[in-house]
Amino acid sequence: MSNSSYAENDDRGQQVNKPPKLLNSGKSFCTKYSTIEDVVSTHNHSNDFIQTRNQYIVERLKLICLFFAISVPASSSLDFIVFDSAQAKLLLVNRLIVSGVLIGLYQLIRRYRTVNMTRVVLTLSFLLPVLSYTATELLLTQTMAYRDIPLSFTLTPYLIIAMLGLFPLTTSGGVVLLSVIALPLAILEYIQYTGDYTAVIDKLWLFVLFGGICLWLQSGQMIMLMKLYRESTIDSLTGLINRRVLMRQVTEIAINSNAAQDSFSVMMLDLDYFKRVNDTYGHMVGDNVLVNVSSLLKRELRNSDVIARFGGEEFLVVMPHLELAQATQVALRVAEAIRKSSVMTDEQQEVTFTTSIGVTQYIADESIAQLFKRVDDLLYQAKMQGRDRVENGITLC
Ligand code: GH3
Ligand code: MG
Ligand code: MG
Repeated sequence: MSNSSYAENDDRGQQVNKPPKLLNSGKSFCTKYSTIEDVVSTHNHSNDFIQTRNQYIVERLKLICLFFAISVPASSSLDFIVFDSAQAKLLLVNRLIVSGVLIGLYQLIRRYRTVNMTRVVLTLSFLLPVLSYTATELLLTQTMAYRDIPLSFTLTPYLIIAMLGLFPLTTSGGVVLLSVIALPLAILEYIQYTGDYTAVIDKLWLFVLFGGICLWLQSGQMIMLMKLYRESTIDSLTGLINRRVLMRQVTEIAINSNAAQDSFSVMMLDLDYFKRVNDTYGHMVGDNVLVNVSSLLKRELRNSDVIARFGGEEFLVVMPHLELAQATQVALRVAEAIRKSSVMTDEQQEVTFTTSIGVTQYIADESIAQLFKRVDDLLYQAKMQGRDRVENGITLC
């Protein structure tokens, strides 16, 4: 693979020189570019963020399933006060069925925590109470006038919509879910329509109002989750992911690599004599060097590469689908780019710096610890052999 094609395209053929994806795995993210986009859709979310959000939703969903499973039949006590005994018994049966299904959904989400399963359970756990409400109201209006049905009952759909606001969903996800919930309610209105369009507009207005508040709350939850995620996973100086997320991502890449009988490479970089930079020019200049190197790595590498700040002046890059020879070429190019770059001090002094790099390829079924030990040893060799150089290998440990 030529250096230039590597620099210009990622493995899906996308241009690299565009604003970095907000929650993309390896690249930094910057709120300036895409907060709104990230609240609207999951398109730019990294796998790691998708998994983190999924876990958060699953925990809430389990609680909601249990809440509905208990509160739906518990409301039956009110039915026996406001409805006649036959109606209340019918409602009780209906409520017990809903409760049973919700417990089933609870078990399902406990066992299968995939993103798709979460979508299904989330939709069903909200749709089901709405369907139950719709069916019940149809039954009730056969024997009593709509205006005689208590407010606590007719407001049920709005309560359900309000509870959707507890989830950190994207706006598009929230709109889809609200539309699914709206469908049985719209059918109910159609069946019961008596020509009184003001009543329909009244209900529609309430739905839009509650739906809007729900979307607003969901966006708020989403923004808060993204903020917490950023703070716990992103290095504030360089905007790169930290070691914790790196470990999660490299583990996932290794699993995929073993499954696909594919390989990947890693390189570990450590700036040479960095202490001297700090001692000579001060910490601020040292920080500028770190920022400069991070930008350079983002520029030189693909979107699909994972770039992490591993420690103080150490960086680690994971390059999916690259074998050692290609990865070594990339490392040589990075080392050269770093050698050629510089930062300016306030006194207009030009500060140059170099890096030592270890590069290795993942060996099928080895542990991440073994992989990191090998690349660390190679980096040590590069230091021992004079610095500002790349050492590669695959069978060191
Ligand atoms: P070597 O070539 O052997 O790697 O030498 P070195 O001086 O780079 O390595 P050493 O481990 O002795 O020093 C690393 C220095 O990096 C010490 C520490 O103050 C500095 N450092 C670590 N994190 C930061 C940071 O966030 N900002 C700045 N300015 N300096 C940092
Ligand atoms: Mg070091
Ligand atoms: Mg160093």
